[in-house]
This record gives sequence, structure tokens and C-alpha cells, in this order.
Amino acid sequence: MSERKVRVRFAPSPTGPLHIGGVRTALYNYLFARQHGGDMVFRIEDTDSNRFVPGAEDYIIETFKWLGIKFDEGVSFGGDHGPYRQSERRDIYRKYVKQLLDAGKAYIAFDTPEELTAKREAVQNFQYDAHTRMQMRNSLVLGAEETQRLIDAGEQYVVRFKVEPGEEVHVKDIIRGDVRIMSDILDDKVLYKSADDLPTYHLANIVDDHLMEISHVIRGEEWLPSAPLHVLLYRAFGWEDTMPQFAHLPLLLKPDGKGKLSKRDGDRLGFPVFPLEWHDPKTGDVSSGYRESGYLPEAVINFLALLGWNPGTDQEILSMQELIDQFDLSKCSKSGAKFDYIKGQWFNREYILKTDDAVLAPAFDQILKANGIDAPIERVQAVVGMMKMKKINFIKELWPLCDFFFIAPTYSADDKFTRKNWKEGAAADMDALYHLLEGLDDFSIESQKAVVDAWAAETGKKPWNPWRVCLVGTGKGPDMYELAAFLGKEETLRRMKAAIEALH
Ligand code: GLU
Repeated sequence: MSERKVRVRFAPSPTGPLHIGGVRTALYNYLFARQHGGDMVFRIEDTDSNRFVPGAEDYIIETFKWLGIKFDEGVSFGGDHGPYRQSERRDIYRKYVKQLLDAGKAYIAFDTPEELTAKREAVQNFQYDAHTRMQMRNSLVLGAEETQRLIDAGEQYVVRFKVEPGEEVHVKDIIRGDVRIMSDILDDKVLYKSADDLPTYHLANIVDDHLMEISHVIRGEEWLPSAPLHVLLYRAFGWEDTMPQFAHLPLLLKPDGKGKLSKRDGDRLGFPVFPLEWHDPKTGDVSSGYRESGYLPEAVINFLALLGWNPGTDQEILSMQELIDQFDLSKCSKSGAKFDYIKGQWFNREYILKTDDAVLAPAFDQILKANGIDAPIERVQAVVGMMKMKKINFIKELWPLCDFFFIAPTYSADDKFTRKNWKEGAAADMDALYHLLEGLDDFSIESQKAVVDAWAAETGKKPWNPWRVCLVGTGKGPDMYELAAFLGKEETLRRMKAAIEALH
């Protein structure tokens, strides 16, 4: 079995936007597949039509496109194991349901929801299993003929898995180790419903993992309770030899570690729990997303990769390739991972510093446009390059730091920086500097620097802070030569003159 080709799947149900925990699950599947030269399959588990939400499937596909997580097969990607949408696999499931029925490993049950509710009310902790099934309305009690008669008469039914008591069920989990339980605690789960001619999650999931030749099932911890039933289903079909290996990932916890991360935590503390903005088609509610909030996809990947796993070194910034090389499924933690969203912001800052200014410029351009500024993209890019190291977590934070690049300042003697730096003689010094700069044909950084540094050395003057007042109006901004070169000679002189007039 060890030489089996690695094939993993990400199998969401399209019931709404993908939660950030689901994104981490997909990422771990991706890292594992790439590391082993395997395949990653995208399957849509949409057998529960009541919970179907339009737009959810496209949302999920768009999420992975944005994050750079690539699938080899599946819905919208094609492949040899399709169709990959469960609602399109009815014929396949019917065949496997029949196989279990014919082998006596499943049975038909007619109990209506009302009958089941009545039973639950009458019997404390009622469970449909070996102890109670003979008191119910099913084919085991009614016999083949009566069962057929009811089906022919159009009665709705379900198919239930016949769990044999007294069997040991062994779930081997790469992260959690071995889990052994007795089959007695399991109930006869519904595998198929005649009402919509569709299997339930459990049957479809097992049949598809088998037919799609899945070697490893890497999924969230919330699916761990289903694993024993899944093992029994593999056994019932005689597929134990190709049963995938399980790995149940730890939960994502609230930032304080107390309980499971929820959307409410995000709303309360101001961070997104969804990868992309989500517009709820029913309520019209909009939930924020990492993309729209200004996170870089690489930062989100790096942040999520370290929630539940780490490389065992001090290295925190890892590229996708480094993650692929170093990821180790067996070293994932068993205990939940605190969702430290502040760390997520730190990752974004680090990736802003690492990312090409040309890649960052369009995002800042959008913010400028929203503030009524239409500048050539090269100028936008130049400003990003001069200012991104100023400890910003998000590109949008550049605007209040950078407005003066695009809008001439207003001057006020009350401004704290101005009060401190525009002293007696400042106007005269700026006037001298004005004339010095006016004489320059070449307004590059080097050319300004040569002339101004020489003048400063000769006269002992320190023109930098008053000059900053002239060009910025206060104490922020990059190096003065850089700024003046960006503004150009004409605008630099215009601002100097305006400042001298306003402040004297
Ligand atoms: N359809 C399940 C979900 O929505 C997938 C569970 C699994 O991966 O087996 O998460």
C-alpha cells in the first residue's frame, strides 16, 4: 500500500461561503499532495439539497484561484474520475446501495419522521440500532414481500446501514494515532433517501473516495466522529485494502483559545473569517473577506499553514515551495490552534515588504481613486516603494501617510512639527534653498544632493526639517531628496514659495 499514488480531495458542501478553517484544510491537502507528487481532487458534496446555497461553488473556486491552490481534477477542472458533483452521480450510488441491500448489510426502513419523533419521545436516548431495529417499521421486520408492496404503493423509505454489534472498529489516524471503539455505540445511519433519490453524505463520501482512488482523507476534526462508520462501510464493501488513511486536523480556536472560532469572533474583534467577501443571497448580508480587506494571498497562505503545524525551526516566513518541502502531516498538532489574527496582520506586513511595488501599486491606486486622485501608475508605484516600509499592515494605511505626494499641503504655524522646526530665519534659509534649486536643470536625487549638501556644509545650515515643512506641511514622509525628485522642480518650488508666504 505504501507505493500507492497519493491522491487527496477537498470535498466541500456548497452550503455558503467557505470558512477560513476550510481553507486551511484545503491548503494542507494541497501541500501534502504536492510534496508527494500526488493529485488533488475537487469534489462538491451536494447531496443535501435543503442546504444548497447558490453561488457557493463559484465562491470556493474563486477562493483557490486567488490563493494559488491548484487542483488537478474535479468540478470545473475535469479529469477521469468524474462527474465530480455528487448530485450528478445518482446512478453510481444506486448501484452501491443495492449491493449493500443484496448482501444483507443494509435494510429498508419506512418509519416516518413523526414515528421517529414519537419513538424518541417515548424512549430516553433512543438509538436506531441492533437493540431497537426489530421494534421499527423496516424490511427486517416486515419481510421482503410486504416491503416490496409498500415500495410499489409509493411509500417513501430510507436505506439504513445494518451495524453489527460486538465488532471492534479501528480508526488509524496520522495525527491522532489509533482510535478503537466498539460498533455497539454506533447507530444504523441512513445511507439513502428515496424521497430525493440521493445518498446521504456518508455513503456518497465513501463510494467516491473509493472510486476516485483517494489515498489520504485529510479533513477537519468535526468529521472524526464519522470515521468509525466510514471504516465499517469500507469493510462492508470489501474495500479495506484500499481504504484511505485518515488525518483529522485540529480545530481553529477563538483568539483567546476558549472555544471554537466563529464568525461572531471576527465581527467582534474586526477580522474576517471568510477568504473572500460574501454576499448572502437570502439575507443580503455582506461578510468581509481577507481579499477585500487588503490581505495578500501569500500572507494568508503562510498564516494558515502555521495554524496547526510548524516547521520546528524559528523560520516563520515560508514561501509556498518551502511549505511544500517542509510540511509534515504527522507533525500536525492534536490540540486546537488559536486563531491569532494579529499575527495574520503581521504576516501581511511582512509580505507587503517582500512584494514587488508593481504588484502592490494597483491596490493603492484604487484607494487613491476613491480619494479623488488620478495619478499615473508609475507614480503610484514610486510612492508605494518609498513608503511601504513605514510599518503598515495594509496598503490602505498608506493613504494618510502619503496624501501630500498628490495634494499640496496647507500650512499652519500651530502644527507641532512646524512650531518646532520653523524657527527664526527659516523663511530666509528656505528662500536661499529655493534659489539654489531653481538653478538646477537636473532635478534628480543625486544632482540635488550634490548642491544642497555642499551648501549645508559651507554655511553650517540644517535645512531638512524646514524644507520638510514646505513640501509636506508636517513631520511625515520619506527622505527629502526622494520627495523633491518625485514632486519635480516646478511643484517643489511652488510649495516652497507657498510655505514661505504662509509662515514667513
Ligand atoms: N462535505 C464535507 C464538508 O463539507 C467533507 C467531509 C470530508 O472531507 O469527508 O466538509
